[in-house]
Amino acid sequence: MLDAEVAIVGAGAAGLSLAHRLARTAPGTRTPSVVLVDAPPGPLRPPRRTWCFWEAGAGRFDAAVTATWRQLRVRAPSGREIDGDIEPLRYKMIRSDDFEHLVARDLAGSTAVRRLEAAVETVEDVPGGALVHLRDTTGGARFLRARWVFDSRPPGSLPAARTTLLQHFHGWFVRTARPVFDPWTADLMDFRTPQPADGLSFGYVLPVGRREALVEYTEFSPCPLTADGYEAAVRHYAEDVLRLGALRVLSTETGVIPMTDAPMPRRVGASVFRIGAAGGATRPSTGYTFAGIQRQTSAVAAALHRGRVPVPPPAHSARARAMDAVLLRALAGGRADGPALFARLFARVPMRRLLRFLDGRTRLYEDLAVGLHAPVGPMLRSALELPTLPRRPFDGP
Ligand SMILES: Cc1cc2nc3c(=O)[nH]c(=O)nc-3n(C[C@H](O)[C@H](O)[C@H](O)COP(=O)(O)OP(=O)(O)OC[C@H]3O[C@@H](n4cnc5c(N)ncnc54)[C@H](O)[C@@H]3O)c2cc1C
Repeated sequence: MLDAEVAIVGAGAAGLSLAHRLARTAPGTRTPSVVLVDAPPGPLRPPRRTWCFWEAGAGRFDAAVTATWRQLRVRAPSGREIDGDIEPLRYKMIRSDDFEHLVARDLAGSTAVRRLEAAVETVEDVPGGALVHLRDTTGGARFLRARWVFDSRPPGSLPAARTTLLQHFHGWFVRTARPVFDPWTADLMDFRTPQPADGLSFGYVLPVGRREALVEYTEFSPCPLTADGYEAAVRHYAEDVLRLGALRVLSTETGVIPMTDAPMPRRVGASVFRIGAAGGATRPSTGYTFAGIQRQTSAVAAALHRGRVPVPPPAHSARARAMDAVLLRALAGGRADGPALFARLFARVPMRRLLRFLDGRTRLYEDLAVGLHAPVGPMLRSALELPTLPRRPFDGP
């Protein structure tokens, strides 16, 4: 039986961020003993991915950042460009491999954190803590006892919601024959893509040089596409919309991020908490999760360092979640024209303020001002409809 004060289940964005924050402490604070458990290589491990987020100035994980942008662009369906300088913020891209290496290097120098490769089967509350049931790499059963457990495994199913959409995407890391990209500008939403019958779609371009970029096709809609459907959609965007010319696909990325108004439980036992996407860190209206994970794990680490009960705080305020619920309903119900709505928001609200809004750093009057730039009729009807809708389990795509 292994023993620790803290067990972290899952070494993805959330588990690694929390372990990194617990590995070192300032003088005068407590350093809990930590075991970080991750599934062995295989089906439980998520594929490589890139995480983007924004922050002002230098950040904790800058050594792992591949690229940063100060200029962001949105393109309306007509092709009209909406550009924004987000100074003092920077839009940052981290590859999961680089993040893992950075955290592994820092954890190697810590005596507080031990790492363990095993598949977690269940976590149960026991008197004075929790017991983690593990299956190690030889298939043997093991147990880890901890005062507190932070579980970041993806939940088997999503909680019942009034609205659940999926943000699903497929991207190519490309190298082009000609210098076609502007490395200073990231394209957040390019609505020149063909729009699906249900939901909306857009292109996303993160250039890391004049000839290299991540080019993605994204949908907010009820169902993912087939592999062929994604290939065709990215190809159309790269060849016919962006007209990139000859190119080589260096690697690909595919993802599905649930966008749900369901409350995600963060405390699932007296000593057991959920963190990360499983703990509601995803902003429902955008799918951005990485920044929410940082807010959540930094609060948990601070509580542990001070010897307090480390309940993860909500990554997004009740007001932000309520506004997102209305937006999701308007999009899912087909009341709002998604591309027009987002293009109008970006055209009328300074990008810096929109990014602060998405981080939950705006005041009530600023939120209302953002809300007023959305189409008032559809949003109001969606807001009035919401309380009348039952929460339903998501049957899956
Ligand atoms: C392709 C992709 C791109 C994304 N890009 C962005 C982005 O640009 N910006 C952004 O903000 N968000 C993005 N997201 C959303 C979100 O940030 C990521 O999903 C992020 O990885 C969530 O972190 P997490 O720690 O909650 O979950 P994960 O990173 O998925 O980590 C879960 C961990 O649990 C482990 N695990 C699973 N089962 C077991 C088990 N039984 N036992 C032990 N360990 C187990 C896995 O090995 C994994 O390490 C993206 C998501 C995807 C899928």
